Amino acid sequence: MDFELSDEQKAIRQLCREFAQEVVVPAAPALDRESRFPYDIVRQMGGLGLFGLPFPEEWGGAGGDFLSYCIAVEELSRADAGVGITLEGAVSLGAAPIHDFGTRAQKERWLPDLLSGRQLWAFGLTEPQAGSDAGATQTRAELVNGQWVVNGAKQFITNSGTDISAGVTITAVTARSDGAARGEISAILVPRDTPGYVVQPAYHKLGWRSSDTHPLAFDDCSVPEENLLGRRGGGLRQFLHTLTGGRVAIAALAVGVAQACLDAALAYAKERSAFGRPISEHQAIQFKLADMATEIELARLITYKAAVTYQNSRPAALGQPAGEAEGDVQRLAAMAKLYASEASKRAADQALQIHGGYGFIEEYPVARYWRDVKASEIGEGTSEVQRMLIARTLGC
Ligand SMILES: Cc1cc2nc3c(=O)[nH]c(=O)nc-3n(C[C@H](O)[C@H](O)[C@H](O)COP(=O)(O)OP(=O)(O)OC[C@H]3O[C@@H](n4cnc5c(N)ncnc54)[C@H](O)[C@@H]3O)c2cc1C
Repeated sequence: MDFELSDEQKAIRQLCREFAQEVVVPAAPALDRESRFPYDIVRQMGGLGLFGLPFPEEWGGAGGDFLSYCIAVEELSRADAGVGITLEGAVSLGAAPIHDFGTRAQKERWLPDLLSGRQLWAFGLTEPQAGSDAGATQTRAELVNGQWVVNGAKQFITNSGTDISAGVTITAVTARSDGAARGEISAILVPRDTPGYVVQPAYHKLGWRSSDTHPLAFDDCSVPEENLLGRRGGGLRQFLHTLTGGRVAIAALAVGVAQACLDAALAYAKERSAFGRPISEHQAIQFKLADMATEIELARLITYKAAVTYQNSRPAALGQPAGEAEGDVQRLAAMAKLYASEASKRAADQALQIHGGYGFIEEYPVARYWRDVKASEIGEGTSEVQRMLIARTLGC
């Protein structure tokens, strides 16, 4: 067991940490206040190669590993979780399914723009009547004269309505078998300029406000038959595979926010005095900081382990039925997301408490961290869903 990062991983961490400190930290309060998408930051992240980090050079990627990408998400989220989720949505949810399951023609058409950050692609699984129960998809796609005609709606879709959003991969019922309550579900690539593709007004969110989230509607939206992604009927399995990688990256996001909470709380505890000495000298405050540091260390360890396990399992998992190895990585990804998101929520709560009244005032960043941290317990599978998945692997 080797707990040292490679030189390349350390270099990515340094690069992202400096970029986050110099560029993202100063912009974050206004982006949050105005719920503004960070176009300029995204353009610069594209220039640094972050959108192509875990993909092969053949498609315009940087040829890095999955852990390096998770470290990038962590460092950016330490500055602004909205920027972190923008990268995570673009890479894990947008580009990865096309890379992992796309045909050569699909990859050639979409990946160069996505991996450079010139365009963003979205992932449309959640529907008004199908969230945790993703198999309850009601969006339909009917094959008519060589075209998939899509009708339905998706909700809470990240990166779906920016000026550079190019489209979405959706799950849709492509056939109903006789007597079956649920139909065959396939994944289909729907470009944004397709007639009948409606981006509805953005949500007013509690946190992750610099990220872009919209409901989408599809009204007789026709795309060529070749826009099927992967095997017909394989949509749900492909999306679950995609979510495994996504969950590891969300865990990294949560670690980044938790670290920001500790940084802010420690600095404040040293400068704020009560009862004649800095509050960092009161044992009750020290214990809070010690608990935060310990939980962050644990969260980071399981996240990095899950990232390395995911990286090692990828070739075997793609295109194959879910085997034992994929079960292992699914469980680890679920544990990492569950633990890191709940640990970061505790860290945000303690950081706010350490700030006293100022914690409740938006001029300190802890108020934003406290609002931001909640979403990682919900997006890409709630904590309840992660516990269900883990329990299933225990044989329950
Ligand atoms: C900011 C944001 C960005 C998002 N981005 C995307 C995106 O890009 N693409 C996408 O497809 N989705 C996205 N989502 C949607 C997200 O994945 C869903 O919100 C999430 O999976 C939960 O689904 P739901 O909201 O329908 O809740 P529901 O499924 O309705 O769940 C409601 C509550 O019931 C619990 N629950 C449900 N079933 C069970 C059960 N069997 N046992 C115990 N408890 C249960 C849940 O855990 C939850 O607490 C995003 C969400 C947010 C908030």
